[in-house]
Amino acid sequence: MRDMTMVTNAHTANGTSSIPLIPLTPEQELTTRIRLAQALQMSLEPSEILNLFYKHIQSVVSHSGILFKFGNSNNELKIGRECLHHCDYRLTTDEGYLGEIIFSRSKRFSEAELITLEFLLSSLIYPLRNAIRYQSAIRLALLDPLTMLGNRTALDTALRRELQMAERHHHELSLLMVDVDFFKKINDDYGHHRGDLVLCEIAKAIQSACRGSDITFRYGGEEFVVVLGKTDADGAKIIAERIRQHIAETHVKYNGKTIITTVSIGIATRQSNEKEHINDLFERADKALYMAKNSGRNCVVSSDDILVK
Ligand code: GH3
Ligand code: MG
Ligand code: MG
Repeated sequence: MRDMTMVTNAHTANGTSSIPLIPLTPEQELTTRIRLAQALQMSLEPSEILNLFYKHIQSVVSHSGILFKFGNSNNELKIGRECLHHCDYRLTTDEGYLGEIIFSRSKRFSEAELITLEFLLSSLIYPLRNAIRYQSAIRLALLDPLTMLGNRTALDTALRRELQMAERHHHELSLLMVDVDFFKKINDDYGHHRGDLVLCEIAKAIQSACRGSDITFRYGGEEFVVVLGKTDADGAKIIAERIRQHIAETHVKYNGKTIITTVSIGIATRQSNEKEHINDLFERADKALYMAKNSGRNCVVSSDDILVK
């Protein structure tokens, strides 16, 4: 594997610091660089950038596929198709390791082609790094840093999308509002830090009691929201009850003590055949939650129902 290290516009290939002779004339080199730079600045999506790179360099170094392995995760992107012969590069910027890029095709790469590839990679590395950074910033902006669940912004987007889908396809849709009971006392008894860990355990417990298609969010403080697509009020009650039980059975250990928490859950189900605003759904879930709290907590209430537990 070769290293492509980009440090303030210089590059090293095969451990040498000088750029070796490349089989392109200076005019070709300049034109290729300009075309590539223009093309690669069109997107902030890593897969799109790699796709553009794949297409634009075909006329200079033909290849059948590109595989990119992200340095910061196990994710990878595949463009084209994989063939027998490979050439691999580790892409590194002055900020660290970006990932590994593997070109493949059915014919061996010649030494001259490898030199050209290295030259072309120098145009890819920064647009790709910027796109990866941008995507990760977008992802982080939608995550709650404590529980790593989606945050309120993510909930808003997801719920809008789910409501539209439900209306268009006449699906059922339910929303659970989950609030930890007497959480202030947990903070008072065990400290805020331990309270945070309890919130993380609750987040995990909610997710493990849900189906793969259900989406859980941290709504704020000690409140969580679960969006249940294609789920009617009866189905929502079953899932809510499972979450409630699972959390009541979750024991968080601390200094030889066991912290046990419970939650109250309010359910709202979309009124079928009616166009319902997100706020109406929230309002009904909130009312049901309020009823659950008033009914002694550690229970589930559906807005179009009476006490379920
Ligand atoms: P109820 O059963 O009525 O819901 O009682 P409660 O104590 O859970 O409700 P209350 O609204 O009185 O208190 C919520 C507490 O949650 C108060 C606040 O300090 C705590 N809290 C909110 N966000 C966080 C957080 O991120 N970490 C920790 N540790 N505590 C939080
Ligand atoms: Mg609350
Ligand atoms: Mg609470």
